[in-house]
Amino acid sequence: MCTNPPITMTTLYWTPHAWLQGQWQPDVLLEAGADGRWAGITPHTPCPEQARRLAGPVLPPLVNAHSHAFQRAFAGLAERRASVSDDFWSWRDRMYGVALRITPAQLRAIAAQLYLELLRGGYTQTCEFHYLHHREDGSPYADPLAMSWALADAAADTGMGLTVLPVLYAHAGFAQPQLRDDQRRFKTDADWVWRASQAINAAARPRVQAGVALHSLRAAHAADITALRALVGDAEVPIHIHISEQPQEVADCLAAHGQRPMQWLAHHHPLDARWQLVHATHSTPGEIAQVAASGAGVVICPGTEANLGDGVADLPGWLAAGVPLTIGSDSHATRAVMEELRWLDYGQRLVLGRRNVAADPPAQPSTAARLFDAMLAGSARAAGLSSWGLQPGARADALVLDTAADGLLGVPTDHLLDAAVFSADPRPYAAVLVGGEVVLEHGRHGRQAAIASEFEGVMRALFG
Ligand SMILES: [Zn+2]
Repeated sequence: MCTNPPITMTTLYWTPHAWLQGQWQPDVLLEAGADGRWAGITPHTPCPEQARRLAGPVLPPLVNAHSHAFQRAFAGLAERRASVSDDFWSWRDRMYGVALRITPAQLRAIAAQLYLELLRGGYTQTCEFHYLHHREDGSPYADPLAMSWALADAAADTGMGLTVLPVLYAHAGFAQPQLRDDQRRFKTDADWVWRASQAINAAARPRVQAGVALHSLRAAHAADITALRALVGDAEVPIHIHISEQPQEVADCLAAHGQRPMQWLAHHHPLDARWQLVHATHSTPGEIAQVAASGAGVVICPGTEANLGDGVADLPGWLAAGVPLTIGSDSHATRAVMEELRWLDYGQRLVLGRRNVAADPPAQPSTAARLFDAMLAGSARAAGLSSWGLQPGARADALVLDTAADGLLGVPTDHLLDAAVFSADPRPYAAVLVGGEVVLEHGRHGRQAAIASEFEGVMRALFG
């Protein structure tokens, strides 16, 4: 019988099964070093006296590769159609109405509630595609990074790891030199974005780092992209961009440049493994081949893409090309990774009229395992981390499955991941570990009451 561990430099955990190299392996000892990273992970090891026995099988968490934290305040409040049509663009106009009102203190409260929910949902690192920078009138805060620090404070409040991606946002459209008035809080240029990224990295907050982002080809024109690329140079930071989310965006790009978005970007601004193409929903086989050759990754946001009616990505095409993939919760219509993976394959099934689209028999007959391992492989790069997952050197993060949860009860170990994605409540975790520490047990977080109370107050202030 294992006992609670004494306080030592290394914390030992033991689990009856852990997901290692694409399969469940038994009797696994996990050693979390004093630096918050895995020092060793050893299967086929009896539970030592001093180890803490985890309540269930252990999965690595995934990176949430695309988030706009402030949009959490808007989730569930745009589900009524007021006119003949409702699409991404009408949703965006309403979302801007909320974005124009949020203060740094409110952003911290919204983000803290969100990050707590995302930890419950199986993510332990979130990439913030962050464009809400300035005061309500568009002027800078006394500290120009006030909104970025609000996100970092929220991450610290909850234990979430954070990759801040300050966004270059300069134009309202392909043929529009200026922003719209209701985009005034977003206005940046390449110098601003690179200075912000460097300042966030220089602050060296625990579990916080920064990369850069370009909002989209409509909001960052060729000269902006060239300028930011020049400033970033060879720095090993992630470079994210929304691309090919909307059919209208593809049509506008064709009209402006004579090429489709990914085709144009790859042709004019050579991509590499630092680049993360967010959505990439509307693609051609030629574009997929171009992206695959570059090493860039693709961030799919199934819950948001469904909510906004954006379309369905060519998942079989991206998987077959071996492009690194990740999941993003984006607008936070959904906030659990298992639910996103479920939506990802269900969207394909509905369109293609067949089941288990992502499976790859005989190598990997499990749809859930193929998707989960694909997202796991893409996670480190998307977040700008050197490694990720259950391996020595990676941050000591883990999801402990609750095998007594509805949907997992009595399921054979070999099918646990399948059931977690396609049958269970999407938050079937007994515990969540970040940096070697338990931050959530059965969904409960030490600060959840205060965080919920502050969030509720902000919702009342924003929506009356
Ligand atoms: Zn987005």
